[in-house]
Amino acid sequence: MVKEKIYRGIPASQGISLSKAYLYARRQVHVNHQDIIDSEIENEIEEFNKSVEISLKELKKIYTLSVERIGEQNSRIFLAQLEILNDRIFIDAVIERIRKEKKSASFIFHDEIAKLSNILLAGNDYMKERYVDVNDVKNRVIRNMRREKLVSKVDENTIIFAHELTPADTILFSKRKVLGYATDTGGVTSHTAIISRALRIPAVVGMKVISKYISTGDTVIIDGYEGLIIANPNEETIARYNEKIDSYKVQEKKLFQVVDLPCQTVDKKHVDITSNVEFLEEVDFIKNCGNSGIGLYRTEHLYMAKEDFPTVAEQIEEYLHIANVTFPKSVTVRTFDLGGDKIIQSSYKETNPNLGWRGIRVSLDKVGIFKEQLRAILLASSKKNIRIMLPMVSSIEEIRRSKQILKEVKKDLEAKGAFFDKDIKLGVMIEVPSAVILAESFAKEVNFFSIGTNDLTQYLLAVDRGNELISGMFNEFHPAVIKSLKYIVEAAHKNKIKVSICGEMASNPEAVPVLVGLDMDELSVNPSVYPTIKRALRFIKYSDAKELVSKILNYSTTDEIINEVKKFYSEQVKSKIV
Ligand code: PEP
Ligand code: MG
Repeated sequence: MVKEKIYRGIPASQGISLSKAYLYARRQVHVNHQDIIDSEIENEIEEFNKSVEISLKELKKIYTLSVERIGEQNSRIFLAQLEILNDRIFIDAVIERIRKEKKSASFIFHDEIAKLSNILLAGNDYMKERYVDVNDVKNRVIRNMRREKLVSKVDENTIIFAHELTPADTILFSKRKVLGYATDTGGVTSHTAIISRALRIPAVVGMKVISKYISTGDTVIIDGYEGLIIANPNEETIARYNEKIDSYKVQEKKLFQVVDLPCQTVDKKHVDITSNVEFLEEVDFIKNCGNSGIGLYRTEHLYMAKEDFPTVAEQIEEYLHIANVTFPKSVTVRTFDLGGDKIIQSSYKETNPNLGWRGIRVSLDKVGIFKEQLRAILLASSKKNIRIMLPMVSSIEEIRRSKQILKEVKKDLEAKGAFFDKDIKLGVMIEVPSAVILAESFAKEVNFFSIGTNDLTQYLLAVDRGNELISGMFNEFHPAVIKSLKYIVEAAHKNKIKVSICGEMASNPEAVPVLVGLDMDELSVNPSVYPTIKRALRFIKYSDAKELVSKILNYSTTDEIINEVKKFYSEQVKSKIV
């Protein structure tokens, strides 16, 4: 009897399956490094052109299949891959180098793609994931040049294990009733993860070396909730998991029943719950979640996808789409928050990027780009369901300057007879300590606040949000954070404007009673926890939450606050979940 073994990874798509494993090992692509002679050049170029053409055809087919299975929005990755091969300037550059350098087409193509890949690898997690997509295009073309058949074939009803899966593999496998994906590489923003979520197939990624330990035919359990793979589970584990599968089904059904119920506490205090959206893929999910509206729409991905600022036309298309899908609820579009940990291509390397050229500072330096973004947002606002939000604001001057620029853009559009929301609401993120201290003055300048606790905690406690060495010190229940939240809400309400919270703190169910007791008007949360947060809100009493807050405001240590918050959650929420 083989011993049961548990492996841990990153939960990428929820769900549990128990089945046989299928180990998918894609052969390495071979790059021919050999020099070629003059008489071989034209033939080499012809072969290259042909394989680009075949690859384009294959990708078009995959795109069509993908649209059928997971819709247009989720299939944009394949359009991006097609774009690389349709880029004549890029392809011509490869051909020119083959002629000039007299090297094999696979070598030159590999080298040109590597330049693109290196930029992506130097970027943040999102950019690193895009590296896999670009590499996939490279391998496809080189394989076609070598006339290797690209077979993405697996046995039906299996759980796929692989070192890495491309988005194309994931889509093609899904035709064969795949029950799960587990990969050595990847993070939650990898396209394999995004596609798995869209297909509602459990996935665990970032398992490091799982593909070395699992063989085709092994019995395995994939737990996409916890990010676990259990190889050769014993009878007891199988029985436990079968029970878990049944109870998750019941729980999920019950949990989703709250989606259409009012956003209010037991004693009828209304608190809006909206969603944070980073990728268009998430919008479909939100629609199924009672279409709550979008409290934070991050626009940085538009820059990251191109490594350059998007055109006005591209932006209008995106903002219009999101406004239409969300209508009649509203979308808060945040202007580019580039810099810090969100990569921006610049020849100047900052030693302290989080305290550097970031957010509104970039927009106010690049006024032309800022104006283009404001113009695009305004032109998508005719249904009056868009709000504009400025990130990383640290002074009144930044707000006034932004308002002046917005005024100029409006004036220009009016002169052209454009149709847009003339009274569009303008708000700011409160995520820098100076913004907290000046909250009263800020509140007199804008229409709403949204608190970014991710950055606020980082700057208030001087704890880099991305530094693993001090990650234990990053805590939103620190008394300084809680006191700041109280101060911000009071400053806003005194000036009759509303306050939302869009940092990750709002997505923590345990924090819900605290935020309600602090009188937040809106919680903008991760779409995946939307029902969980709403259920927590509906279990608590506003009067109890107020009491909890007055208690924790007297504590001077994080531990005391956490203990009180956990106790409250366990008694008032957890105990009521059946
Ligand atoms: C925040 O800082 O809390 C926030 C919501 O913005 P981001 O995470 O995009 O910086
Ligand atoms: Mg922030």
